[in-house]
Formats: sequence, structure tokens, C-alpha cells
Amino acid sequence: KDVKPERPVHIEPPRQAVTISNRSRVIFPERGQTKGDLADYYAKIAPAMLPFLANRPVSLVRCPQGRAKQCFFQKHDSGSFGEHVHHVPIKEKDGNSEDYLHVSGEAGILACVQMGTIEFHGWCAKADDVEAPDRMVFDLDPDEGLDFSDVKRAAKDIRDRLSDLGLVSFAMLSGGKGIHVVLPLRRDHTWEAHASFAERFAKALALSDPERYVATMSKAKRKGRIFIDWLRNQRGSTAVMPYSARARENAPVATPIDWGELDDFESAHAFTIAGAEALLKRSESKLLRGWGMAEQSLPDV
Ligand code: ATP
Ligand code: MN
Ligand code: MN
Repeated sequence: KDVKPERPVHIEPPRQAVTISNRSRVIFPERGQTKGDLADYYAKIAPAMLPFLANRPVSLVRCPQGRAKQCFFQKHDSGSFGEHVHHVPIKEKDGNSEDYLHVSGEAGILACVQMGTIEFHGWCAKADDVEAPDRMVFDLDPDEGLDFSDVKRAAKDIRDRLSDLGLVSFAMLSGGKGIHVVLPLRRDHTWEAHASFAERFAKALALSDPERYVATMSKAKRKGRIFIDWLRNQRGSTAVMPYSARARENAPVATPIDWGELDDFESAHAFTIAGAEALLKRSESKLLRGWGMAEQSLPDV
């Protein structure tokens, strides 16, 4: 298969501000954070977020009346996002094409926030070639009652096993309960190859340590274990994007971290939208500057 070279993502320069209506509407009731606060967070964090988000089909978690009211997961355009939110037609399983969304600038992010978006979830492929996945995500989902230290240990196990295969991976606190282990990859394998690798990797891990890990969705088998959710790597699946806010208590943020600092965290929701400046500074620090970047390919196994 032809390798599509990874061009630097095109990020649109900041343009005229998007008008945010109802800035004082409370979106996170726990601390009274408003739609205006959320828009300000995204405007500040956009430079850190866009290298990952730009040019990637996204699904949105929209909660127009706030996170405690009804939220919905939106995959397709509803025709109301305006000029800063772009479309990419993607063929669905039934053969029909549907318009998916992607944004490549601060204005696009804010246009989504204006429409009630809290969370941004991205495909493991970019809009310029949706059939060529460019990353893999292992989403660690701990069963109720497990300690965060168990999740940290699982993430490090995965990192080490990937490293044994010559693959560099990166850790992200999900903003919820788990950690995502993210692998950037050259666009030289198919979705089938990605899903198959992710499934075999997760199942081998579960087989080698069945007391701690499970690689099947079945809730019953999860009891006291960590589900290695490899299903994020199927065509059409998404995972929460770096620096996305979460529609959860206290407005947490999905946050890239360095492996060396993982031990310091006591939960996956260590950062919130109130910490935009610190998050931006972290993203520009030496520690995180190369986060999520590597030129590597899946081994042919
Ligand atoms: P946590 O650490 O709490 O598990 P998470 O973001 O990993 O946080 P999951 O429940 O594991 O949450 O969800 C995994 C992914 O499934 C989400 O990141 C999202 O991209 C996708 N997803 C979530 N809700 C929906 C939905 N309603 N329809 C389709 N996909 C969804
Ligand atoms: Mn998860
Ligand atoms: Mn999951």
C-alpha cells in the first residue's frame, strides 16, 4: 500500500471571534462554570489542542443545557455549525456517504462550543485519508472499586510491551476514570490491520495476566479487572481528544502526561478547565513538547 506522507497539519490562523451566546449559562453546576468559561478555556488551549485535533473527523458530546442535563453524541453535521466547521464525506457500512465534521482552527472549536459542545472525540485517522489510520489508542477502563494505582500499573505494562515491539507510546489521563495509551503511527496499514493488532495485543495481555486484565466487552468478566478497550481502533470509532474538556463533575480535561510523571497522579481527572494557563504551559514545556509524535509503523505480525 502507498504510504501517505504525514504532512504537518494545517492549522488555520485565528480569525474573527466566534460569537458565544448565553455566556452566563451554567454548564458545570458543581463550581458554577459557565458556557463563557468553557469558551475561554478552549480559546486558550486551542494552540495545544489543534496539532492533534486539526483535520481529524470528530464526534461531539453536546450538552446545550449543561452537563447535568441531556447530552448527546453527534457524529454528523446538522447544518447549523457555520463556516468554520468543515465537512468530510465518509462511506458508512451501508454504502451511503455521510458528512462528518472536522475543525482546523480556534474558530472551528469555538463554533462547536457555541452549539453546546463540551467534548471533542476524534477518529484514529485524518480527514484527507480516512481509510489510512494514523494512531492507535488503548483505552484502559477499570472496573468500579479498582484503585487508580492499578490503572497506572496497567498503562506501564502496555507501554513496556509495546516498547518490546519497538513501539513508542504516550499516556493521557482521560479526565474520567482511566488512562489512554496512544501510539502515533505512519499511515501505512489498513483499519483491518490496526484493529487486528490492537485486539491480539489486548487479548495476549489479558491471557498473560487474567486476574488483572480482560479484553472482551462483557461486563460480567470485568469484575475487579481492567478492560483493555482495543475497540477504539476500529474504523468509525473515536476516542476523546487531548485537551478536550469532559462533561463530568468539576469540568475535567483529557490531559497528555509524560510517563515519568505518571506516578505523581492520583486520579485521571487531575486537571480541569480552570487550569487553562498551566495546561498550555505544560504543553509547551520540554517534558511534553514531543508528546504524541513519533515516526513508526506497526510491526508486520
Ligand atoms: P474513562 O476514562 O472514564 O473511561 P473515556 O473517555 O475513556 O473515559 P469511555 O466510556 O471508555 O470513556 O469511552 C470510550 C470512547 O467511546 C469515548 O472516548 C468516545 O469516543 C466513545 N463514545 C462515548 N460515548 C459514545 C456514544 N454515545 N456513541 C459512540 N461512541 C461513544
Ligand atoms: Mn475509557
Ligand atoms: Mn472504553
